[in-house]
Amino acid sequence: MEVVPFLLNWIPRSDGDNFNWALRWPKRWPTCQQLWDWQAFYMVVVWISFQAGLALLPIGRVVEGLPLRDGTRLKYRANGFFAFIVSICGFMYLCCYQKFSVELIAGKLLQLGTASVAFSLALCIFAVIKARVEGTDPPSGSWLYDFFMGGQLNPRIGDLDLKFFFMTRPGLIGWVIIDFCLLSVHLKENNMTLSTPMVLICIFHFCYVADGLWWEDNFLTGMDTANVGFGYIIIFAFNVWVPFSYTLQSQYLIKNSPKHLSWYCYGGIVALNAVGYVIYRSANNTKHQLRMDPNCVEVKDLETIETSSGKKLIVSGLWGVCHHPNYLGDLIMALSWCLLCGFNHILPYSYFILLLLLLLDREREDWKHCHRKYGDDWLHYCQIVPWRILPGFY
Ligand code: NDP
Repeated sequence: MEVVPFLLNWIPRSDGDNFNWALRWPKRWPTCQQLWDWQAFYMVVVWISFQAGLALLPIGRVVEGLPLRDGTRLKYRANGFFAFIVSICGFMYLCCYQKFSVELIAGKLLQLGTASVAFSLALCIFAVIKARVEGTDPPSGSWLYDFFMGGQLNPRIGDLDLKFFFMTRPGLIGWVIIDFCLLSVHLKENNMTLSTPMVLICIFHFCYVADGLWWEDNFLTGMDTANVGFGYIIIFAFNVWVPFSYTLQSQYLIKNSPKHLSWYCYGGIVALNAVGYVIYRSANNTKHQLRMDPNCVEVKDLETIETSSGKKLIVSGLWGVCHHPNYLGDLIMALSWCLLCGFNHILPYSYFILLLLLLLDREREDWKHCHRKYGDDWLHYCQIVPWRILPGFY
């Protein structure tokens, strides 16, 4: 079976030391029959059902979200790290003892992607109908708006919070499973030797997802949970975009690992990733702790300004350097992942470019949102902390 057949058409093979930035269009576009595969669709349904089963298990902490408009707080079962470990071990078991072929995933990425799109569309329609039946929150009056932005902020089926579940489980864990399959294919296609960039990219992705799920409750104080409904934007981002586009680097590295990177290049890349991670994680944790409990020992000595809404804005430490140090850390990590792929092609850099555009857009939206919410206090905050993402530049 030819692995990742469609994508490899896009990728020119490395041509020695020559730079080659041109994207080559596929010689043949896939037909509808090639795009759709019922087996892939069943795999997507089984995967999501399996993750939902794990999410509902009474294992792991129960955490509270931010106060809702009526002052109440929803409860969430934060067992994402447990689900991650069980999924990885279960997948290893299937591969080692049940002769599950990784090519069933790696060779069907296109069909799995199409199946995820179909599943996500059906889910968007379900979310709109559910919102209409149960009442939209806040009322929008537009079906189209509800389809894209979500008609409900926190829709649930029983104990399963749909938004929290899709933001943290099938797509994120699926990303790592796809990486493992690609790593295994790379091993076979490379005469049973692993290239350092391929190993490092899989480790970086693995750590990013494991860390996100370890600190899963941080999602509850992020912008999406607080402000964005359960609709197309959330469903496609986490169910389709994350697993299939965030694995582009490992897809690329199957056959295109740069061969001449020296050990100090690798050292520099690992160091860059570590710096990005420390900034990203400490910024996210600090803000999360402040929002969950402003009096907790970790944040009570931080310099903050009080707003008329009663909430505090941090003006010291990383949050005193720019408005979104967490975005800065994320972007530094993204850059280090791209650098592992060398400079032969722009495709692996799409992750950094698109994340940059996404975070710039989110930053602008968040600025407007905070201005509306905090009024003059926000402008006062902007005087104290003038830089938005990259101090000295933006
Ligand atoms: P943030 O976690 O930065 O949340 C923004 C909110 O934080 C604001 O609306 C405000 O909310 C609060 N806030 C802003 N400034 C301050 C301050 N000085 N002190 C205290 N609170 C403040 O944004 P996101 O939810 O977008 O991002 C969360 C993480 O997810 C980031 O690390 C980001 O990089 C990552 N991410 C990754 C993506 C990917 O594809 N890899 C995509 C999107 C995000 P309020 O005051 O109401 O609490």
